[in-house]
Amino acid sequence: MTEDLLGRHRAVLPDWLALYYEDPLEITHGEGRHVWDAEGNKYLDFFGGILTTMTAHALPEITKAVSEQAGRIVHSSTLYLNRPMVELAERIAQLSGIPDARVFFTTSGTEANDTALMLATTYRRSNTILAMRNSYHGRSFSAVGITGNRGWSPTSLSPLQTLYVHGGVRTRGPYASLGDDDFIAACVDDLKDLLGHTRPPAALIAEPIQGVGGFTSPPDGLYAAFREVLDEHGILWIADEVQTGWGRTGDHFWGWQAHDRSGPPDILTFAKGIGNGMSIGGVVARAEIMNCLDANSISTFGGTQITMAAGLANLTYLLEHDLQGNARRVGGLLIERLRAVAAQVPGVREVRGRGLMLGVELVKPGTDEADPQAASAVLEAARAEGLLLGKGGGHNTSALRIAPPLSLTVAEAEEGAAILEHALRSTIQ
Ligand code: PLP
Repeated sequence: MTEDLLGRHRAVLPDWLALYYEDPLEITHGEGRHVWDAEGNKYLDFFGGILTTMTAHALPEITKAVSEQAGRIVHSSTLYLNRPMVELAERIAQLSGIPDARVFFTTSGTEANDTALMLATTYRRSNTILAMRNSYHGRSFSAVGITGNRGWSPTSLSPLQTLYVHGGVRTRGPYASLGDDDFIAACVDDLKDLLGHTRPPAALIAEPIQGVGGFTSPPDGLYAAFREVLDEHGILWIADEVQTGWGRTGDHFWGWQAHDRSGPPDILTFAKGIGNGMSIGGVVARAEIMNCLDANSISTFGGTQITMAAGLANLTYLLEHDLQGNARRVGGLLIERLRAVAAQVPGVREVRGRGLMLGVELVKPGTDEADPQAASAVLEAARAEGLLLGKGGGHNTSALRIAPPLSLTVAEAEEGAAILEHALRSTIQ
């Protein structure tokens, strides 16, 4: 049945719509941290959909909220007052830490970033944007145009002039000789040099930990150091928290907090986990920036009641059950366990990340050369034993990505780590 579906999929959908696995899975249902395929096989989901299942699959609290909302009204548009949208905006504005915050809901991370770019360029009257090497910000024309990851930039054309900044790296490999402070200083010098040769950019957009880029973790403080330079030039800082928000990184509610304890970004974008699979994205900015547009601008499906009901129930569950704390505790155990494995398997270059956002970088043993074949082989081997993982990295997707729902238990972390260890040992000796 799945085979037939694959043929039909290939006949009508684009070739570039990437599918995982040689024999792609058809997921039919889920519960907690597990999903099942059409043949009844059960998998531990270490990728949380695609970082979309933030709390758990089929969480009864969300199912109830969504079905009750569906029985009342699904969507009435933002032309009318919408109570769940106001409530979710109030909670996100408060959590963002941005003073006098305004929230605009979109339907995806791409649309959120596009909106952030429109706000920043309008506010600063500049269509030049600074972005990080190896970054990913979505698939609209502008979001692709500022995406530094060549594996995810189908066109080199862009409506924006983009300048790429050092600091987004596949691993610290090429910079391995530099300690954190020297690494940051080198990146700051690069930024200053760039700014000496251009008219003032509107903003720097960056993921605090790069997601699609393979969960690369810059040293804490990198963005704080960048920010000093940005502030001197009046350049806005847009934190793309599409993957790093909502406590996923364990130590912090937002990814930027690992870098800059002095204050929130000028603009913050979010998506993925907040809807637990329902399509919610959005932008938070202080009123002065958000209100710089002086034409009407709506997103037809942004803020729709059904998605807002899911977001409210999801966020309530996350906060009441301290899933950020859980991500810190369980993620801490998991990274220790995986680092112990890495020390024994030569092809594992690095285990990095924080909380429940962990990357395992694979290289050809004895070298620093990315090994995408190994990553694919480990992905297949883990699947055969009932574990789903993600992949990421630059053009060579040589990193395994681990981002389970934030309610992952210690027993499940242990089970997943044991399968991953076996898959690594049997695949890349
Ligand atoms: N920004 C980041 C950091 C992402 O990881 C993604 C998607 O993976 C996006 C933006 C785009 O989000 P979406 O796919 O919801 O448009």
